[in-house]
Amino acid sequence: MPLIALATVTMLLSGCNTATQQTAAAPTPVPTPVAPQPPQIDYAKIRPNELGSIPVIMYHEVKGTKDTDLIRSVKSFQEDLEVLRKNGFYPVNLGDVVNNEIDVPAGKSPVVLTFDDARGTQFRLNETPDALKVAPDCAVGIMEAFAKQHPTDWALRGTFFVLPKSKATLEPFGQAGLGDQKMAYLVKQGFELANHSTLHNSFRNYTAADIQRELGNAHKVITAAVPEAKLQVVALPMGVFPKNKELWKYLLKGEFEGTTYEYQAAFLAAWRPMPSPASKEYDPLRLERINSINGTNGIRDWVKKLTSGTSVIPMTRYISDGDPNVVSYPKGMEDKANVAMIEGAGKLANAYEVEGGGTKPIVGAVYGDEPGRNVDTTPPGKGVRQTAVEEPALRVSEEPINE
Ligand SMILES: [Zn+2]
Repeated sequence: MPLIALATVTMLLSGCNTATQQTAAAPTPVPTPVAPQPPQIDYAKIRPNELGSIPVIMYHEVKGTKDTDLIRSVKSFQEDLEVLRKNGFYPVNLGDVVNNEIDVPAGKSPVVLTFDDARGTQFRLNETPDALKVAPDCAVGIMEAFAKQHPTDWALRGTFFVLPKSKATLEPFGQAGLGDQKMAYLVKQGFELANHSTLHNSFRNYTAADIQRELGNAHKVITAAVPEAKLQVVALPMGVFPKNKELWKYLLKGEFEGTTYEYQAAFLAAWRPMPSPASKEYDPLRLERINSINGTNGIRDWVKKLTSGTSVIPMTRYISDGDPNVVSYPKGMEDKANVAMIEGAGKLANAYEVEGGGTKPIVGAVYGDEPGRNVDTTPPGKGVRQTAVEEPALRVSEEPINE
């Protein structure tokens, strides 16, 4: 019955649209595109730097009271949000970052919260007589409460690298029969769904056909369940890339049984902030994430490094000018900017000078001068098939966080 009702409504709506289009016959003049102008902001105060680095945080489980490599306690997760907010970070979806469509208020720094494997503690529903209610202590429930509490400086954004239901993997987010409804709800709320393969096996020895089957099938199943979902990025299981570099192109584009997929970027598992998409250091096939652990190279360590400038690697954070059509950065950083890409996208590259500005030299983000660590952070878990990974694991210090 509801299906029939829905079909009728859809038909009525499309009928309506056709009628409107027919009556509105007069051609509308195409507006001349206006070249973007530098935003009128206080540059000396805000000091936008849209070539700075962006932290992409990786979460697996959010539950309980103890932090581990893969589990963030409920309290620590709540505190993470507050630490990020207090330090001027503002959440965005990964798809917007890799498309260089970062829309955050002037003076704020983008941050991306990512959630892997569609684990149950990320999104749980409680059944009540008339509705399914988001559990207040799952990641989604905590983020919803936080956004409601801070309407002007926090938004409901985040990227879920889900695993579709398959013979080898459980229902996304663990509750039987509710996976599709949950995924659709996330998209409706402003979150983003992204590809994390079908079976969560290592891609190391995959052939072109293997890669396309794994990504194409996941793409097909997820978009069939949630047609409004726009998948734009992929995170490789355990962060493991195919050994054969010639096959990397299939991570971003391919076809499986009539389903084609096309992504903007592929993400590793760890360990540092990613470069701005407008910087020359940006490489869509080697983007890194930060693990939500305590201690060195964990989330709060990086917040501290990015906000105090005390990183071993000279690294500055992305600070927005508030206008997604303009890429602003201080004069002196011109050689870091990918001006061809910025202008090719119809945006303005805005190298600004602050009168009577700072006396310190500006140091840009430098990548590649520390050995990258590709960390296996996925544990033996429910519904997730495991493959051994050869990368050395990152040693995690147990020291408490000092704010
Ligand atoms: Zn995973």
